[in-house]
Amino acid sequence: MTDQGRPASAGIDTSKPSIARAYDVVLGGKDNFAIDRAVVGEMLKIVPQLPEVAAYNRQILSRGVRYLVEEAGIRQFMDLGSGLPTRENTHQVAQRSAPDARVVYIDNDPIVLAHGRALLVENENTTVVTADLRDPESILANPEVHRLIDFSQPVGVLLVGILHHLHDDEDPQSVAEAYLAAVPSGSHLFMTSFCASFPEAAELEETYLSVLGTGRFRTLEELQGFFGDLEMVEPGLVPLPQWRPESPIDHDLTVAELLMAGGIARKR
Ligand code: SAM
Repeated sequence: MTDQGRPASAGIDTSKPSIARAYDVVLGGKDNFAIDRAVVGEMLKIVPQLPEVAAYNRQILSRGVRYLVEEAGIRQFMDLGSGLPTRENTHQVAQRSAPDARVVYIDNDPIVLAHGRALLVENENTTVVTADLRDPESILANPEVHRLIDFSQPVGVLLVGILHHLHDDEDPQSVAEAYLAAVPSGSHLFMTSFCASFPEAAELEETYLSVLGTGRFRTLEELQGFFGDLEMVEPGLVPLPQWRPESPIDHDLTVAELLMAGGIARKR
C-alpha cells in the first residue's frame, strides 16, 4: 500500500525518491511517498516557489500543445518523460482541439504506466510506454510507438521538463537530435528545462543533484543549442510565462518565473 492508502504497483521502489513522484508532490498530487515528500521539502527550503514553477510548466504544456494542434496542424505526439497523469495532460489538450490526435506517453518510471493505464483504458488514440528516453533507437523501434505514430507525417516531439534530468555526459542534445532525425519536415520540438537565469540556480542545482541525483540548470545559450538548426516559433526560447501568454506580463519576472525556459521549433 502507498502511505496515502492506495496499493503500490509492482516495480515501484518506495525506499528511494522518484522524479515522477517528487514532481507529483510539487503539483499537489497524491501519488507519492514519504521519501518523495522529504526530498521536495529540501528543495522548497531553497526555492519555496517550486509549486508555482511546476504550474508554469503545466501551463506552457497546455499552451504549447494547443499551438501545435491548432496552428501547426500536428496530430501525433511523442511525450517523452511525460510524468504521472495529472490535469490537462497532453492527450486531453490535443484531443479537445482534434479528437483524432494520437499521443504516446513515454516514461521510465513504472508508476507512470500503472497510473496511466487506468486513465487511458478507454482512449484508443493514447498509450503509455515504459522506456528510457536516453535510448532513442529502441523507442523509435518500439511497436507500440509505431501503432500510433506514423513517421511519414509530422510529429510533435515533447521534451517538456525533462532534459534537466539528463547529465551533460548523457548528451541531451544528441538525444533530442535522434528523435528529430526520425521525423519528417514540419515536425516540431517542444522543450522546457531548468534555466540558470537567477542567482539561486547554482545552490538549487547542488540540492537537486544531492537529493534526487539529477537537475541541471543550464544557461539560455546551452538550452538554445538543443534546438540545433530548427526554426524557432515566435517568441523563441523564453522564460515559461513569456511564451505566448494568455494575458500580457507587465512586471519584472520573479525567480519562479525565471527558473525554467521553454520554446517550440519546427523542423525545416
Ligand atoms: N513532462 C511532464 C511535465 O513537464 O509536466 C513531466 C515532467 S517530470 C518533471 C519528468 C519525468 O521524466 C518523470 O516522470 C520521470 O520519471 C521521467 N524521466 C526521467 N528520466 C527519464 C528517462 N531517462 N527516460 C524516460 N523518462 C524519464
